[in-house]
Amino acid sequence: MKILVINSGSSSIKYKLFEMPSERLLKNGAIEHIGEDGSKFRDHYSGLKIILEEIKLVEAVGHRVVHGAEDFNKPALVNEQVIKGIKKCCAIAPLHNPANLSGILACQKLLPGVKQVVVFDTAFHQSIPEQAFIYGLPYDYYQKLRARKYGFHGTSHEYVAAEASRLLKKPASRLKLITCHLGNGSSITAVCGGKSVDTSMGYTPLEGLVMGTRCGDVDPALITHIMHKKNLNPKEMDRILNKESGLKGISGISNDMRLLEAKANEGNQRAKLAVDIFVYRIRKYIGAYLAVLGGLDALIFTAGIGENQASVRDSICKGLFDCLKVKPKILVIPTNEELMIARQTYKLIKRPAKR
Ligand code: ADP
Repeated sequence: MKILVINSGSSSIKYKLFEMPSERLLKNGAIEHIGEDGSKFRDHYSGLKIILEEIKLVEAVGHRVVHGAEDFNKPALVNEQVIKGIKKCCAIAPLHNPANLSGILACQKLLPGVKQVVVFDTAFHQSIPEQAFIYGLPYDYYQKLRARKYGFHGTSHEYVAAEASRLLKKPASRLKLITCHLGNGSSITAVCGGKSVDTSMGYTPLEGLVMGTRCGDVDPALITHIMHKKNLNPKEMDRILNKESGLKGISGISNDMRLLEAKANEGNQRAKLAVDIFVYRIRKYIGAYLAVLGGLDALIFTAGIGENQASVRDSICKGLFDCLKVKPKILVIPTNEELMIARQTYKLIKRPAKR
């Protein structure tokens, strides 16, 4: 079965075509600058039309959707109700869900009758218990505004956790893992028995680790103080926290970890500080999740930094488990979110219909 996996962003569509169940990658591509001035792609529909003209045979589609809130704890077959649910989540993911939805609606028009499945970035973290997902805020904010920790990168954390179980030749149900997805956006997850029990990102992907351009954990009172002092409105403050902070903000140089390491090695102090802070925050979270899990079989690194920058991994791991009697394994596992989406799409479509 040929399954097309689509990651539809605000101005881009990335896609991969898999033959399932053999998992063979048949095609891989991207269209960019959708909707921008001078672009030949007016919208997602015109972009997808070009992609499909090239691919021709598609038997099912798997879509990445960023936010499924509490409405979705597993992949879903697209129907009217599921589309309604994704629309409802646009309010809490206004930058991502509308673009994801455009891809789904375009596919419905271009591929009538072809089954479509949505796989949510938040779904894997729906197993996190209340004590870890409720913030210390008035409880009715949770009830009325759906204000809680959701977590992201779920498909990646789930994929590398499953791979770890395969590599360690141990069932997921008997494993305690910490998965570190370290890219431009970074997050870390505690996985117990194959289920996410805590994760560093929160209501949005801003919480937790210091990232390429995102600040991660900050005293919330400092934010309101800065807004007051610098006369910033919420939108401006939001942009600074998401786009001008993190490694870029600290170093004043770049969000690119390769460049920062090179600069740090040349003696640039601010670049060194940015790398040190990145590493320190990760070590702190690993310590916390070790306590959450009460033991650890393996620490897993993935994504751009996690997969490629051995020196950063070494700094994170240096002396980290010295106090443990049984040392956990340290694994580097390349993530493959698209393959995970193809697997989940195939699984859902192959399931015999309920009688
Ligand atoms: P995202 O998907 O969140 O945009 P990536 O997972 O591609 O991010 O990671 C980007 C980060 O990984 C950058 O800081 C980059 O410097 C670092 N990196 C290190 N080595 C590589 C590599 N070989 N390819 C891509 N990114 C790399």
